[in-house]
Amino acid sequence: MDNKELWQQILLKLNGIVRHDQFITWFADTAVLRIDEETLVVGVPTQFAHSWLEKNYGTAILECAQEVVPQLTQVSFVVDAGLANKDDSRTISLDEVTPSSKKIRKLPKKQEIKVTGDTTSVIFNSKYTLNNFIVGKHNRLVHAACMAVASNPGAQWNPLFIYGGVGLGKTHLLQGTGRAILRNFRDKAIVYFTAERFLNEVVDAIKKYNAQDFKSRYRSVDCLIVDDIQLLADKDRTQEEFFHLFNELYNANKQIIISSDRPPKELAGIEERLKSRFEMGMVAEVHFPDYETRLAILQNKCAQHEALIAPEVLDFIASNVHHSIRELEGVLTQAVAQMNLTSTTPTIRSVGTLLKRLVPTSQPLIGVTDEQIAAQPSVRSADDIISIVADYYRLPSDHIKGGLRKREIMIPRQICMFLIYEILGHSYDTIGDYFSGRNHTTVLHSCNKIKQRLNKDKKLLQDLHALKKEMGM
Ligand code: ADP
Ligand code: MG
Repeated sequence: MDNKELWQQILLKLNGIVRHDQFITWFADTAVLRIDEETLVVGVPTQFAHSWLEKNYGTAILECAQEVVPQLTQVSFVVDAGLANKDDSRTISLDEVTPSSKKIRKLPKKQEIKVTGDTTSVIFNSKYTLNNFIVGKHNRLVHAACMAVASNPGAQWNPLFIYGGVGLGKTHLLQGTGRAILRNFRDKAIVYFTAERFLNEVVDAIKKYNAQDFKSRYRSVDCLIVDDIQLLADKDRTQEEFFHLFNELYNANKQIIISSDRPPKELAGIEERLKSRFEMGMVAEVHFPDYETRLAILQNKCAQHEALIAPEVLDFIASNVHHSIRELEGVLTQAVAQMNLTSTTPTIRSVGTLLKRLVPTSQPLIGVTDEQIAAQPSVRSADDIISIVADYYRLPSDHIKGGLRKREIMIPRQICMFLIYEILGHSYDTIGDYFSGRNHTTVLHSCNKIKQRLNKDKKLLQDLHALKKEMGM
């Protein structure tokens, strides 16, 4: 077996253990370089991948490797930037080790469900599924509870009461669970209410017909989901209706799932008899996730947006959001929007500016200073940019400006044009003049080439990021 076949076998095993999004992020461009006695030497494209894999998957890689080559006792990682080249012959395509069911699919459309008779249908947001909820240490319990309820509703964990701060995934879990129950049991009727909508339904029922009707409408439901129950505080009549519905469903072994911003005991303005019922089943808290989970959420989002963002930038976002996943996603969404609108790749500086605007806190940002954010780029002229790119690729500036058509020179030249356009905003004609009088269509073509390649070439993305950093961007 050669190194490639060996790595392929190990990856096949790892793919069953490592989450798919993590797998495609961290195992791309890796290879087995050699076996040194009892050590498997794995080549990785960046220092970042090195630390991440070592820290998170070292043991898993060793265990899978031992299944293939039992005498191995260690794994060591070596950074080899050449692996990031698309045509490096040592790496294998991850498609070869990914079952087709796991290949990234677009999420299905909105789903509408008819409940009993003419009762309004429930609309679950297709964004929220239990499968795309990223599980880390902090939320393993609550996720497991949701999975258990989804496969066996109305049994052990009833009611399921989920509480925690804003933007930590409660709605996601509630909707994901509802959707999963529906998938597992096609004939079950499920109703999802925000507490606000529940309130309106009760008020409507009282106005239009009578509360009895209201009850019979929902009595036949198999699973009742109420989001943000704290909003029923001091709404006595609604609480009363809810209490009766709750009892009826509970006694019939129908599943009830509730979310709240605080634990049952601390719900002010909610009747005691309701609070004690909320505590009868499973009470689980959602917490703010740790760094690794935040990073995984960001990577997952990038995959959904089909956006490539430099690992340092993702790390920067994950390190600087401290309270809510909604904020985490918000920053990423804005960064992606900016990227698409302006065809520029996000940098720590540009994301730092976004963060300061979107997530104002008194805490200083980790990884960038206010001065760096406020500073003007250190490059002022095309020559500044050409000389930084030339140094980076160890080429003389004259070669870049000149007419040689060798690949090692053409790509840095295209990068120069792209960056001059992006940073200094010069016209294509002017840019052409810096490069021995090339015409503007050549420059336009070069800039487009870089943009296109950025979508698939991680090495280029990292190079550009490093270059921009040097240019004070
Ligand atoms: P809450 O209802 O607690 O205020 P949401 O369920 O609306 O929070 O979550 C806010 C956003 O964060 C949603 O877009 C949700 O998909 C996302 N989110 C929260 N937790 C996770 C997670 N563990 N994995 C993936 N996305 C998450
Ligand atoms: Mg919510």
